[in-house]
Amino acid sequence: MEQELTLSPLALPGIENTRPLVIAGPCSAETEEQVMDTARQLANNGIKVFRAGIWKPRTKPGGFEGKGIEALPWLQRVKAETGMLTATEVATPQHVEAALKAGVDILWIGARTTANPFSVQDIADALRGTDTPVLVKNPVNPDIELWTGALLRINRAGITRLGAIHRGFSSVDQTIYRNPPMWHLAIELKRRFPHLAIITDPSHMGGRRDLIAPISQQSMDLGFDGLMIESHCNPDCAWSDAKQQVLPEVLDLILDRLVVRDYVETTESLSQLRKQIDELDNDLMDLLSKRMRVSREIAAYKKQHNMAVVQTTRYSEILDKRAVQGQLCGMSSDFVKTVYEAIHSESVRQQVEIMNK
Ligand code: PEP
Ligand code: MN
Repeated sequence: MEQELTLSPLALPGIENTRPLVIAGPCSAETEEQVMDTARQLANNGIKVFRAGIWKPRTKPGGFEGKGIEALPWLQRVKAETGMLTATEVATPQHVEAALKAGVDILWIGARTTANPFSVQDIADALRGTDTPVLVKNPVNPDIELWTGALLRINRAGITRLGAIHRGFSSVDQTIYRNPPMWHLAIELKRRFPHLAIITDPSHMGGRRDLIAPISQQSMDLGFDGLMIESHCNPDCAWSDAKQQVLPEVLDLILDRLVVRDYVETTESLSQLRKQIDELDNDLMDLLSKRMRVSREIAAYKKQHNMAVVQTTRYSEILDKRAVQGQLCGMSSDFVKTVYEAIHSESVRQQVEIMNK
């Protein structure tokens, strides 16, 4: 049995419930001027939720670790002067207490913190008895259970205005991304908790300005609920994550060009198409089971003639032939290879069973 989340709408005051919910602001609050300058520009462009890191989790010591509580009054000023809601990252119960005392509207848990259940539990305990909206970033490692676990811990502390932020995952492979999105994990989270708002963070996924627009579009195409984007009045001189921050006016352009398609569960023509898919899936299952039956007959023959189950030349022949055929039919050869590897391994499993009967 999957554990459930008890959710209520985020219900952010003054913010309409339309996609995407946009949260923007600098990676870090650096100076009062930088915070106010950025915030004013964002507010003028219609941004309603302002983010800024006050406590910064840095990979190595010695970098800029955030201004700490000194910067909290700057967020208060943002709220008072622009009317935007404010959001910041919390990693300890002390952060939670200080941020809530300063009237920060939304708290988020950073990727490094989500990876540590002790820290998440401490934060959950500190949140108990409040009605704060909390957003939980995915853990740095691609572990959906850890992400789910963190959401459950915060939820069990009575926080129901809960959302998730998908910021991509660390990878040992060289990719164009700083943190590859691995979209399937966010999609699986949505499958588990269909009412959980999931916000995409293209800044930390891409790590580069030019990737923010395409990732944001992909997020909308996949039906996610919002975007958290780092924006700075002078990105090149930012004290953290300089390469991925954009000017407020650039963010405005990106949002302007975004195509937001309606996310509707079903329409008549969509359910027609889904019926076709269901029928094709039935055919696929029929064919697969026929293929397995023939394969079992081969096993009986091999047994009779005392032959080994796997003949590698035959296996390579199948993989090569179908990879080429797949490509001709517009499928990637990697995909076809994966499918045939799976079919072959089930076929071998069934043959071995017969050989040992
Ligand atoms: C951030 O939002 O600035 C941040 C530190 O992000 P993450 O926790 O996703 O690395
Ligand atoms: Mn950042």
